[in-house]
Amino acid sequence: MKTVNVVGGGLAGAEAALYLSSHGVKVVLHDIKPKEKTPAHRSEKFAELVCSNSLKSNDYLSNACGLLKEEMRALGSFVIAAADGCRVPAGNALAVDRERFSAAITGEIRGRENIETVCGEVKKLGFGGVTIVATGPLTTPALEEEIKALTGEHLYFFDATSPIVAAESVDMEHAFFGDRYGKGSGDHINCPMDKATYEAFVAALLSAERAERKDFENAAVFEGCMPVEVMAARGIDTLRFGTLKPVGLYDPRTNRRGYACLQLRREDEDGTMYNLVGCQTNLKWGEQKRVFSMIPALKNAEFLRYGVMHRNTYIDSPKVLGMDFALKSDPDIFFAGQITGVEGYVESAASGLVAAINAIRRLEGKESVDFTRKTVTGALAHYVATAAEDFQPMNANYGVLEPLCGEHRDKAAKRRAYAERALETIDNIKKEYRL
Ligand SMILES: Cc1cc2nc3c(=O)[nH]c(=O)nc-3n(C[C@H](O)[C@H](O)[C@H](O)COP(=O)(O)OP(=O)(O)OC[C@H]3O[C@@H](n4cnc5c(N)ncnc54)[C@H](O)[C@@H]3O)c2cc1C
Repeated sequence: MKTVNVVGGGLAGAEAALYLSSHGVKVVLHDIKPKEKTPAHRSEKFAELVCSNSLKSNDYLSNACGLLKEEMRALGSFVIAAADGCRVPAGNALAVDRERFSAAITGEIRGRENIETVCGEVKKLGFGGVTIVATGPLTTPALEEEIKALTGEHLYFFDATSPIVAAESVDMEHAFFGDRYGKGSGDHINCPMDKATYEAFVAALLSAERAERKDFENAAVFEGCMPVEVMAARGIDTLRFGTLKPVGLYDPRTNRRGYACLQLRREDEDGTMYNLVGCQTNLKWGEQKRVFSMIPALKNAEFLRYGVMHRNTYIDSPKVLGMDFALKSDPDIFFAGQITGVEGYVESAASGLVAAINAIRRLEGKESVDFTRKTVTGALAHYVATAAEDFQPMNANYGVLEPLCGEHRDKAAKRRAYAERALETIDNIKKEYRL
């Protein structure tokens, strides 16, 4: 029987191990648990949800993470099946009883004859044969060193992220395209503010509720990536002379500039997602929406990703990984989960599924499966393998999908069209590759 070593039994590793096992592959699943734990893990079980118990929206017709889950169900995801079985009432969201959820997956793993579990920290990856590395954002330092050596130093520590908004939700009546002093390709969206708006915005930033930080999140780590609310506390004009500097940003319609100006930077090739430049933040997500929506151009902004702040070890995937999640320099080594730059429980499990499917194809000497940008599963894999410079983690959202052809009556019709196209594509891929 062919064997795959899976390192890390979190969301991605557990998903990969169970998929491989169900397809007749012997798995050796390594985790430092239960003997030791990373600073965020508490439970002795596999597939631990380290923070929230929500796997986000379950509505596949109007939410990209809902669609991702539906695609995963079609592909035989064990993680989503376990979540469906441990669901607790939470409106449209798929929230779970975290203990039952991890227990269900752990029981399944321990009950499989072809899965051997090994407890201990993996420090070297020289198992030989096909290996999937899924050690997550808190990969232990010794293994980080090994991964650095393997990937040629392409290992990032990312501490804080800025929110990302949908381009179509930016109110262009209050914004304009252009670069400072007209230098550049004119791709930034500029969101000016008058004096009163700026001062109210700074006051709101200062009084907004911040997310709790865990002890292990050493403040010193964040120096190069100062949250916007911390900068704001240095003085009323600090942001206006820094992150929100208006100089050289003239609205071509009026030839005037704002008292302050937020720039939005394009996040993807199609220009569907924009990053709030310099607005890395540790505010609670609801507060981020409330405070940033005070900027006139963002009053109806749809937040595709909120800013987050925690240790997050991930590799520079666009440089080192293919769309199948295998290393370009050594296609026997796959990566999966948050360490690849996908962000979130469901996204991590989805990448585990893709890595496992392609690990089997690798064992069989067959070409990898490309889920294409028509599916959320494939679009995340494409994002990870091809994103531009300054690679940042990404969760499921419509912005990563290949744009639709034709006109759609409204947002709901557009999202339905995305879902129909994605699920049909998954169906076709399953038939074509006999998945
Ligand atoms: C503090 C924090 C809070 C988060 N909150 C949320 C949230 O609320 N919602 C959300 O969707 N996402 C959240 N995330 C992001 C992310 O989705 C989760 O971290 C998710 O668990 C990632 O899945 P994974 O499989 O990649 O890694 P993990 O689930 O972390 O699994 C990695 C596994 O690898 C093991 N391991 C690590 N190093 C080694 C080693 N050297 N040898 C052997 N085993 C090892 C660990 O013990 C662990 O079991 C959070 C992340 C962090 C750090």
